[in-house]
Amino acid sequence: MYNQTPPVTDNADGSYLTISNQKTKFIQTLAHKADLPATIIMPLNDILAQDHIIDHFKKAIKADRLSHAYIFAGQDGVGKTLFAKEFTKSLFCENDKNDCCNLCPNCIRIEKNCHPDVFYTGREAKAKFIKIEDIRNLQHSVRFSPLESDYKVFIIKDADRMNEEASNCLLKTLEEPSPHTIFILIANSITPVKETIRSRCQIIRFHPIPTHIIEEQLTSKYESADPIKIGWASRFCNGSLGNAPDLLDNNYYEMNNDIVTRMIEPDMDNLFLAEYIIDSYLSTEDSLEEKRETLKSILNCILQFYRDLLIVKIRNVQNDQLNKIFLLNEDRETILQRYVNYLTQEQIINVIDEILTSFKYIDFNLNINLLVENIITTITVLNSKARQ
Ligand SMILES: [Zn+2]
Repeated sequence: MYNQTPPVTDNADGSYLTISNQKTKFIQTLAHKADLPATIIMPLNDILAQDHIIDHFKKAIKADRLSHAYIFAGQDGVGKTLFAKEFTKSLFCENDKNDCCNLCPNCIRIEKNCHPDVFYTGREAKAKFIKIEDIRNLQHSVRFSPLESDYKVFIIKDADRMNEEASNCLLKTLEEPSPHTIFILIANSITPVKETIRSRCQIIRFHPIPTHIIEEQLTSKYESADPIKIGWASRFCNGSLGNAPDLLDNNYYEMNNDIVTRMIEPDMDNLFLAEYIIDSYLSTEDSLEEKRETLKSILNCILQFYRDLLIVKIRNVQNDQLNKIFLLNEDRETILQRYVNYLTQEQIINVIDEILTSFKYIDFNLNINLLVENIITTITVLNSKARQ
């Protein structure tokens, strides 16, 4: 028999929330999706190096001129999801009309990812795309009015990872906007997002975080770490503050040094190097997924090594603006200078192209060891041709 009494749900902050059966189902479905950002209490003003965005939203909130759909675009680790959360807090905050207090029940529940009017969805771990069911659930949930607040906010992570079916479903939802609903689509790149979706959203571009800011953050987080390592991680993360700690925590500095040392050995043998990489880094106990991730990191080290070579090469020829671009392996500049004499600019670009192509093959169902041998052989053949 249908129960006319709405159920009472225990909220994470100890309060109780009365909602209908149907709504409970969708809220629970959506709230448990997507890997949510680590808990960081951070008002809007403290979000790093995105002042243009903070100003934009503060003005929009004050003037009550918010768009019903946004795309937050920018590379991984520049604060897009964090900003979405802080912006939502500012919108819902009971104490501060222009920012968030992080103390009121709304701010606290958003921080804990348990506010009934804030929904997250995204791609599940290791899945290629967002599931269509998740977008359908979202579409259904949009029909209901906010439970407690003036707005309902839907945060869709990995919005650049939707297949045709999911994209069309989302498009339909965006075409018929419900009042007081705000969508925030989070995407590393807007190119894969359907044009028809893009045209219905305001696009907010997040900048890479400047190296000196990343260095300051890492220095305060890793007080006892070697400053050379901190400097390297700040450059190597390529403006992604979110990814920088991972470089330090997982000894990427040591791995990069090791790979670069092997690469610049005068009589580098391709099969020996491939075997060395397999034996040293691709443990037989690792899952295929772990091996793929490790191989991507190794290839990235090789890619950045050639990126440095290209900069040194062009600097030597042109001696201008590129002087201002830092080398990722700046402690190896003398060796890079020596090494670059053997290569033309075109040959370096060919190797870079080859590495970028190899990245695409990693996620295919190929034998990883064979892939390493092929990649290293291709690079060494290009290098040895250059030396002839
Ligand atoms: Zn608040």
